[in-house]
Amino acid sequence: MSGIFIEALKYAADKHISQRRKGCDMVPYINHPIKVTYILQNTASENDPELLSAAILHDVIEDTCATEAELIEKFGKKVADIVLEVTDDMSLTYDDRKRLQIRKAPTLSDDAKMIKIADKMANIEDILTLPLTWSTHRKKQYCEWAERVVEGCRGINPRLDIAFNELIAKAYKIIDNQH
Ligand code: ZN
Repeated sequence: MSGIFIEALKYAADKHISQRRKGCDMVPYINHPIKVTYILQNTASENDPELLSAAILHDVIEDTCATEAELIEKFGKKVADIVLEVTDDMSLTYDDRKRLQIRKAPTLSDDAKMIKIADKMANIEDILTLPLTWSTHRKKQYCEWAERVVEGCRGINPRLDIAFNELIAKAYKIIDNQH
């Protein structure tokens, strides 16, 4: 495993240290970016250290005090640019951020598109496996929105596209059975 990735993993763990997953207080936040990175390496067979570093860092600007300048200094401009591409503008309302993700998806770089798909997959897996406080309706709404974002990100890594299709089909089946 390359040096840059371990540096990125440690940095992300430090930045997310006091955070827990939304809707499930017992799970440390860092489990989420680890899962995203795991999907890219294991399901999608992606091994580029800069892509995997951006994946482990993908939420640090959005959710912690990390800055673009710090990411450029520590991990280089390419990694920082990918992270920025997948960072929501937190000055917008929740609904606007959700709409913008759908609109922006087709314009993202290949690396950012793959992180987006893996990000949605990690969240859907959490919805299916963690004891979330979410209602069935909210879970289904999340899956429908995730599908629309992923629609604009397909075509880069066929393994990832297939894995997403399988997961979303399974998710609807499980969620529909919860009614
Ligand atoms: Zn994420």
